Formats: sequence, C-alpha cells, structure tokens
Amino acid sequence: MIAGVIVDVPALGTDKIFDYRIPDGLVDVITVGMRVIVPFGPRKLTGFVVRLTDTSELKRLKPIEDIVDPSPVINKELIELGEWIAENTLCFLHSAYQSMLPAAMKMNYTKRLETTETTELSKFPDDIQALLHSTDGMLWSEVLELGKDRARIVQDAIRKGEIEVRYEIRSKGNKKKQKVVKPVEPVHTLEKVRDDLLKKAPKQATVLEYIINNKVDKILTKDLVEKSGSSRATIKSLIDKGLLSESEEEIYRDPYKDRQFERTYPLTLTEEQKKAISPILQDIKDGKHETFLLHGVTGSGKTEIYLQSIEEVISRGKAAIMLVPEISLTPQMVHRFKGRFGSEVAVLHSGLSVGEKYDEWRKIQRKEAKVVVGARSAIFAPFTDIGIIIIDEEHESSYKQEENPRYHARDIAIQRGIYHNCPVVLGSATPTLETYARAQKGVYTLCTLEERVNKRELPTSEIVDMREELRAGNRSLFSAALFDRLKDRIEKGEQSVLLLNRRGYSTFVNCRDCGYVAQCPHCDISLTFHKRSNTVKCHYCGFEEKQPTLCPQCQSEHIRFFGTGTQKVEEELNRLMPEASVIRMDVDTTSRKGMHEKLLNRFAEKKADILLGTQMIAKGLDFPNVTLVGVLAADAMLHLPDFRASERTFQLLTQVSGRAGRHHLSGEVVIQTYTPEHYSVQLAKQHDFITFYNQEMQVRKLHEYPPFYFLALVTVSHEELMQVVDVTEKISERLRGTLSSQAVILGPVASPIPRVKDRYRYQCVIKYKNEPNLKSTLNEIVSHYQKRMQQNQLQISIDMHPQTIL
Ligand code: ADP
Ligand code: ZN
Ligand code: ZN
Repeated sequence: MIAGVIVDVPALGTDKIFDYRIPDGLVDVITVGMRVIVPFGPRKLTGFVVRLTDTSELKRLKPIEDIVDPSPVINKELIELGEWIAENTLCFLHSAYQSMLPAAMKMNYTKRLETTETTELSKFPDDIQALLHSTDGMLWSEVLELGKDRARIVQDAIRKGEIEVRYEIRSKGNKKKQKVVKPVEPVHTLEKVRDDLLKKAPKQATVLEYIINNKVDKILTKDLVEKSGSSRATIKSLIDKGLLSESEEEIYRDPYKDRQFERTYPLTLTEEQKKAISPILQDIKDGKHETFLLHGVTGSGKTEIYLQSIEEVISRGKAAIMLVPEISLTPQMVHRFKGRFGSEVAVLHSGLSVGEKYDEWRKIQRKEAKVVVGARSAIFAPFTDIGIIIIDEEHESSYKQEENPRYHARDIAIQRGIYHNCPVVLGSATPTLETYARAQKGVYTLCTLEERVNKRELPTSEIVDMREELRAGNRSLFSAALFDRLKDRIEKGEQSVLLLNRRGYSTFVNCRDCGYVAQCPHCDISLTFHKRSNTVKCHYCGFEEKQPTLCPQCQSEHIRFFGTGTQKVEEELNRLMPEASVIRMDVDTTSRKGMHEKLLNRFAEKKADILLGTQMIAKGLDFPNVTLVGVLAADAMLHLPDFRASERTFQLLTQVSGRAGRHHLSGEVVIQTYTPEHYSVQLAKQHDFITFYNQEMQVRKLHEYPPFYFLALVTVSHEELMQVVDVTEKISERLRGTLSSQAVILGPVASPIPRVKDRYRYQCVIKYKNEPNLKSTLNEIVSHYQKRMQQNQLQISIDMHPQTIL
C-alpha cells in the first residue's frame, strides 16, 4: 500500500507527488484527501494524500509517520480542482489545496530539543536544565534567548547526539471544548427533588427550577451559572447528587448565536422574475450545468430569485453556495439568508475570528449546513452535492485573489458547476464587459430584469460640473446643488449618503514652500496622513512616523496634509452644517471588529442624518429613509491609467445611485465631477448599461484589451535595480521569441509602484488571443530562474488574468 503525497514545501522541485509506504497500522485508515505527517529529508512535514496505489517506481520508500486528520479534509472533486488551479493560475499544488482550507488548519512547525535516555543532565548549566525539565520541553528560540554561549553548548550537544531535535507539527486553530451540563433524571423526578430542596437548599432548587421551566436538555455550565443566578458549587452539588451530569463537548463558535432571525417567506414573484427564474429552476430539476447572467438593476429583485432558487435546491436535498463581496456581507445580507433558511446557513467572511471560520467550515464538512453565504474563499466550501452556485455582484474585483493562487471565484464556480451538473448564476446590475460579452455570444444564458420591483422609479440623477462651481467662486467641496439638497433632507428628517471615492485621491503631506511630498523610505509611494494618531503611514508596508512639523527639505513650517480624505469632508460638513449629525465610515473608523456593523446600525436607527464614506458604503445597503445620494468626486478614479477605469467608474456610480429611494420615498442623486461629458458619468446618470457596454467595447477593441484579448502579467522584483531590468528584459525577449506574431508583449517597464519594501519592481504584460504554448513557456521561465530565486532574492510572479495592470 503506497500513498502519493503533496508535501508542504511550495517550491518548484518539490511541487509533485512523493510516494510513501503506508505502515501496517495505518492501512485502511489512510484515505485520499487526508493530511499526513511524513519524513522529508531531516524534517517532518505534513502533506495531502492525493492517491493510493499498489506499486511505485521507487524501490525504497519511507513510511508515513502519522495522520493529521482522522478523516479526509478535501474530497475527490477538490483534489482534481486543485490540479486545475495549479495548471491554470501557475501556482504550486500545495498552495492550491491549502487555499481551500480555513486558516485554522494551516500548520505550525516547531523544533523541540530533547535529551536521550543516556544523557547526563547535570553536565548542562542550570538554565538549560530548567528548560529541559519544563513540561513543554525546550525550544530553540528559548535557547537563543539565553545568549550565544548557551546556544553553542546546545549545538555541541546536538552534534554529540546528547540532545535530539524533534520536529513537531501542530495545527494553528483547534476545536473548542467546553463544559456542558445535562439533566440525568426525567422532569417529574426533578420536580419532586426541587420541592424537597426548597427549604434545605434553595439555591439548588432555583437551578432545577430553571432547567424545568426552560426544558433544558443541554446547556453550557457557564451559561447555567449565569442564567439561573447560581454558582459552580451549587451546580456541583446537583451533579454529586446524580441529578445532573457534566461533560466536555465540542462547541461551535457561532458568531450569530445571540441574534434572532425573523423567519421570512417566499414572495410571489413578479412576471419578470418568473421569466428570469424559470430556466434556472429547470436546470436544477434536470441536473444540468449552465452559466446564467442575471442582469438586473439594483432593486429589481435578484436576491429574491437567489433565495427561491436555493430553496428549490435544498428541497432536493442538495447544497448551495452563495458568494457575496466581502463589503456587502453586512448583517442585513446575512439576515436575508438566515431568515429564510435558519440554521442551515453557514457564513464565512473575514470579520469572523480564525476559530469561528473553522467552526463554520466544519459545519459544512459535516453536512450540518446546506447553504454557505460567504466571500471569495467560500467557493471552496466542501459540499459533496452542490445544486447551485450563485455569485452576486459578479463584477466585484474582490472575487479575484491577488496573491497565490491567483484564482477568480467565477472560474472556480464554473469548474465546480460542471462537476456537479448544476447551474451557476452570475448576478449584477453592472456586469463586467467580459461576462456580458459572453452572454451576448451565448456562452452564458442571459436573464434580464428591466424594472425595479413594483415599478419603483430609479432615482433621478443630476450631474454638477465642479469647474463651473469654481468659476462661480465656490471653493468648498460641496456644490450649491448638493448643499441645498442636504439641508432640505435634514429639515425633512430624511437621510443622505455621501460617497467619497478615495482611490486616486490621497491625503498626502506636502510642503507649500518647496513642494516636498512625504514619501515612504521603503516604497515609491507617498505617505498618508492620519489625523487621529497625528502620524503618516505607508499603506503598502505599514511604515509609520510622526507627522513632520517642519519640512525636512527646506525647514518651512508650511507643511500640511492635502487632498480630500473622508476626515476632511467630515470637518467641512461640521463647519458648514453644524446641525447635521454625521457617521463616517472608512478604513480608519471600521478597523476594529464589529465597528462596521455598529455604525450601520446607528444609521439604520436614524441616529444620524448623513452617512459619509468610501466605496464600502456603495454596496448592498438598503435603508428606507435614504432619499439623497451625493457623489463628491465622480472622476477621482477615471484618470487612473487603468484599462478598467471607465468601467469601474460606471459601476460605482450606478451602484451608489441604487442606494437612494429604494422604498416608498423617491430618491435623488447628485454627482459632482470635473468631467461631466465623460460617457461613464453620463450613462451612469441614465442607468444605461447597454449603451455603456457598446461604447466601452469599442474602446477595448481599439486598444486591444479584454474581452478582445487575454492578459498575462509577469512581475519581477529584486533589491538591485540592474538585476530586475536585466531579468525582465530577458523574459520579454524569450516571450517574443516563443509566442505567435498575434501576441503583443509590452515591456519591460517599471511597475506602477516601482519600489515596495525596498525591492524594485519591473513588469512585462502579454496581450494574447490564442497561445497554447504560453503556460508552458512561463513555467520554463520560472524553472530557468529557480536557482537564482532560491539564492538571491529574485522574485518572479505571474498573474494569468490580472484585474489591473496599473
Ligand atoms: P436586488 O437584489 O436586485 O437589488 P432585491 O431582491 O433586494 O433586489 O429586491 C428589492 C426589494 O424588493 C427588496 O426589499 C425585496 O424584498 C423586494 N422584493 C423583491 N421581490 C419582490 C416581489 N416579488 N414582491 C414584492 N417585493 C419584492
Ligand atoms: Zn519645504
Ligand atoms: Zn512603504
């Protein structure tokens, strides 16, 4: 019996299957998809078992040492999917499998130092003896803390075989066990005992009373103490009497356990909704794979379609994956799913702790959940019988992972949809050009919702030319039109949302006398000013220092922060409209856990007139009392040299407009811009996706961008500039020599941020239509530089479908 294992060394030479002998004790225990511990050189490592065979090409095989998990953690489907990811995103197999598992299941490797039976302990200094005696043994890091001479003594002992190195492997997270209490006797007995105890031991009687009244069959001991107002001692007496029993049980950390979700029921669908859902339901019934694009304006009832499709899937005993962008995974959103499907819903998003995520994942693994609602990585939910996969807001860039493996959740969804013979639904009011083009060609099936539910009007939008405002002498951040409307809403007791599109804007520190701009010493990027801590920070490497009071270049005092951050807007609002209460939402105010939700709740409870924020407020929010949406600078990202700049601007303006007038009050939108004539601004005002699509497609065609061409991005980085330029040039030449004449190779050029964390970065962009040799060529290039990558800090990263080449 031989197991093929992918070991935890994500590197070129080791990214393949290694055969190990299964020792007698583990035959029939080890199955495909389990993690095992194997010897690897001098080390011990974990790895994924990906196949079982009877023979191996190698004669002498080392045995597997132990298993990590008692049961498989990835199923057969996901093993194949991992191969697909490795091949198509050019990542290592081990990274592909690791990315499917929650962070809690990553492994920690520690080296523990132990004496052998014959070692004389007394020959070591006292401090080392103490470490060797301690319950969890001696760690190398502890020896180092004792100083160099101690380290030398230990190294010497290792060489002589007096101290052995044991490699230990633990998983990062763990299952949580807690004490629970259960009643042992039936209710009528408990009642009798309670009556007896009433005088002698009134406290014990109260505990029994609580258990009887609340029909408790199991409760956390600490909860029983708290809820019955008793003490551990009282409960212990009842356990000693044999009335209750106590045991340790594994408890799921349910982040939503203290919340009540009001049950909701399917709505009667509108004619349009019925037409859109029927082919989806048909595929669910037929067990057929097909990819749908559900194109519908905000408020057209897409979510109700998702809910009813999922209901059909559950009624057939199958499972559903529902992806939502991280920032839309608001409590409101979770509520819609938990309200319909109750405890069958698992939720996965970055706001959960490592342990909470692990527990939600295991609920899925154990088939205790039928629906997962989650951000990108929930696409790997270990269901074995998927009936539908839905991606809401499919145009969101967060569905692409920007580190290895660089996968797009949409591609994974389609792979899994094919495997499970189930439909994949991509929903959006503003689909990506790639997706809409595929729907036009018939690769995807297009379902359209043209109207809002109950024919509610889309909000009317007004575009304000900020150049005119300036000419009229208005230097404030607010146009007269927006200012008047904000005032009007405050008087009427209605609410407003203000969006500051911060990308492309910065709050940098600038000297008015000499023009000096504070830059990160490690990256070629300006530092950002943070008022609360009065510091400047680098958003790329975390560098932070006190805000300078004198210009380091000319010693002038006229050094101050610039730009229009949310803080600045808030200050100006407070000055111009002191009567308005404002909630500000940005990275600064929401970084603490739970703040995002708290601020939104306060706004929902109408405790503020204005919600001011960055992109994070544009999505998914649904407040009935919001009747005005203002966009402070619509073109902030329009001029970024990014081929998706127009598309992203159109998407954002359309999304944010959708926040107004979603219920019986009608809504208004004011868009402030310096480029009112730009088509992405004009067409967002008219809610006209189709015209935008047609116009933008012409631009993409002209400049040879997706969806007419595919892109691949190779980024090279090194501490020395000469090396980077040299390697990138050689790579570009190699590509020019190998690919067809149809492919366009741009580069080498400096990356948009040419230095990050003291490393220089150069890139090469490949535009192509059909290059069967591309992946193998890129793999060869990486192999060619393998040695230098290991030895001297050279890094080459490849992104097969970059979201941006900015
Ligand atoms: P979208 O996801 O397209 O933005 P939603 O599904 O959130 O749209 O629907 C917008 C609003 O209309 C929600 O408040 C929803 O409850 C309501 N709604 C959706 N479908 C119906 C229906 N068939 N009948 C009545 N109300 C509906
Ligand atoms: Zn200066
Ligand atoms: Zn930096």
